[in-house]
Amino acid sequence: MTRQPSLPPIAVIGAGFSGTMAALQLLSVLPPERPVLLCERSGSFARGLAYGTGNPAHLLNVRAANMSAFPDRPDHFEEWLAGADLGEGVVRTPAGTFVARGHYGSYLTDLLTAAVTGPGVPRLRLVNDAVVDLEPRAGGFVLRTEGGQTHRAAGAVLAMGNLAAAAPKSRHSLDPWAPESFGRLHPHAPVLIVGTGLTMLDAVASLRTQGFSGAILALSRRGLLPNAHAPADLWPVPDLTRPTSPP
Ligand SMILES: Cc1cc2nc3c(=O)[nH]c(=O)nc-3n(C[C@H](O)[C@H](O)[C@H](O)COP(=O)(O)OP(=O)(O)OC[C@H]3O[C@@H](n4cnc5c(N)ncnc54)[C@H](O)[C@@H]3O)c2cc1C
Repeated sequence: MTRQPSLPPIAVIGAGFSGTMAALQLLSVLPPERPVLLCERSGSFARGLAYGTGNPAHLLNVRAANMSAFPDRPDHFEEWLAGADLGEGVVRTPAGTFVARGHYGSYLTDLLTAAVTGPGVPRLRLVNDAVVDLEPRAGGFVLRTEGGQTHRAAGAVLAMGNLAAAAPKSRHSLDPWAPESFGRLHPHAPVLIVGTGLTMLDAVASLRTQGFSGAILALSRRGLLPNAHAPADLWPVPDLTRPTSPP
């Protein structure tokens, strides 16, 4: 007989990569009576900042071969890729295959969907709201959301990503992650990008995708660009089961 989830849940706050995978791993290791509550404020689960982009030119900066969500199943992401009908956003190079970050978000979405709709009594509940308070109580917490929901939780995982950057000092700066930002630019006037790292590459890809044909100047203190990947062996899977002893 299937046991009902009757215990208070473990709450996971934030459903980017970390929160989504924490929820899935908790489901696999906790007893069936223990449900999991996954809370996300953006309206979009299993994507987060990195994998929410819809621009196929925004690529993973890690080879597909090293992006499995499961350390004990290193081929999992590549197997998903082989079975997915992706169209654009798959770049094969001598150094390996690099795919669009949006595709990786679809991979995580598929994993989460399978957990929510799988057979048996549902143990994973999605809360589509911002968590604004966690109040310690005997045996756990009371969690409150912006929309006024309250939930008891036996424990909580905070997976809320990085804090927002300080507001830009210049009124001429744009949010590089807001899709509408680049549409506001004059199509030919030059653009200055402060910084020459991976976000600069994304910004250039966004500008070119939107048909911007003007000059782009990228400025940094050191003038260094990200290194291109060279052909390399796969990373060995670390053995996380044995504690390392101090030297
Ligand atoms: C542009 C970019 C590209 C990257 N590319 C790669 C890559 O190619 N390969 C790689 O391995 N890593 C990459 N990374 C690193 C990447 O950030 C991490 O791998 C991972 O995605 C981080 O996930 P996270 O869940 O910790 O944070 P986030 O993705 O930031 O997720 C946090 C989530 O918490 C939610 N949240 C926050 N506060 C609350 C609240 N109070 N209530 C409810 N929800 C809340 C947010 O809405 C968000 O969805 C990249 C990062 C960036 C920014």
